[in-house]
Amino acid sequence: MNPKWNGQFSCFDLVAKTDEHVRSIVCAGDVEIGGHDFVVMAGPCAVESERQLLQTAEAVAAAGARILRGGAYKPRSSPYAFQGLGVEGLKILRKAREETGLAIVTEVMSEQDVDLIAEYADMMQVGTRSMENYALLEKLGGCGRPVLLKRGMTATLEELLRSAQVIAMNGNPHIVLCERGIRTFETATRNTLDIAAVPVLKTVSHLPVIVDPSHAAGVRSLVPVLARAAAVVGADGLLVEVHPSPDQAMSDGAQSLTFGGFSEMMDDLQPYLAIRAAGQPRFGPRLVAVGGPG
Ligand code: PEP
Ligand code: MN
Repeated sequence: MNPKWNGQFSCFDLVAKTDEHVRSIVCAGDVEIGGHDFVVMAGPCAVESERQLLQTAEAVAAAGARILRGGAYKPRSSPYAFQGLGVEGLKILRKAREETGLAIVTEVMSEQDVDLIAEYADMMQVGTRSMENYALLEKLGGCGRPVLLKRGMTATLEELLRSAQVIAMNGNPHIVLCERGIRTFETATRNTLDIAAVPVLKTVSHLPVIVDPSHAAGVRSLVPVLARAAAVVGADGLLVEVHPSPDQAMSDGAQSLTFGGFSEMMDDLQPYLAIRAAGQPRFGPRLVAVGGPG
């Protein structure tokens, strides 16, 4: 154990790994995240229509995804871009769950929407732009659903775990962390996938950790190889964007896989998942409490 990590992370006592609490399994619907299985969550960036979502749900389920993703409330960089279908999108997500049995993860941007979205979603996604929205995190503490907490694009791992601690302190320990790429000086990719974040988080926290290769890469050709990397460093799963016709997508088409591309990625992952299974457990000694919450 790097002694620095102890001082950095042990104050987040509800999410830090201890001898008593080594691993958490978080359930979204009937899907266990953080257990033995590598859980793939897939679907479009945004819910655009019933047809688009149902087609995608069937395709990703057939290829092995367990959870359907799709934004009904979209945090867009441009105020002129498509902002999502709102409650109509939530109803479409519910229909997709009824038809395919997939659990649903969808983003919540405002504490005012938490109760409504919790009626439809199996898991509440906090996006990169909201990681430090404490009013939202506090409200999610009582939402009765697990939370998928994405790392802020300029946030350190300490800050990510601090946000997780806020959700847990407010009553909800069911949290999955997501590395989705951070801002660096590199411009060839949309963000820089901080692959080391996975083993660091798995060493210092008991929470499950997944990787979003789509928002890290920004370009679909890199998604499968980043997914391989996630599998071998010990991630608990992936969040991947998939669209029936990515070139017509209303958001994030350039990084979205086609149905065929997603199915190939899932096949391609198999030998890497075998490496993952053979290599566990591998995450080191526990933290020792030093001081109170910071
Ligand atoms: C998304 O998952 O579509 C999304 C907006 O992700 P992020 O918050 O990581 O940009
Ligand atoms: Mn997106």
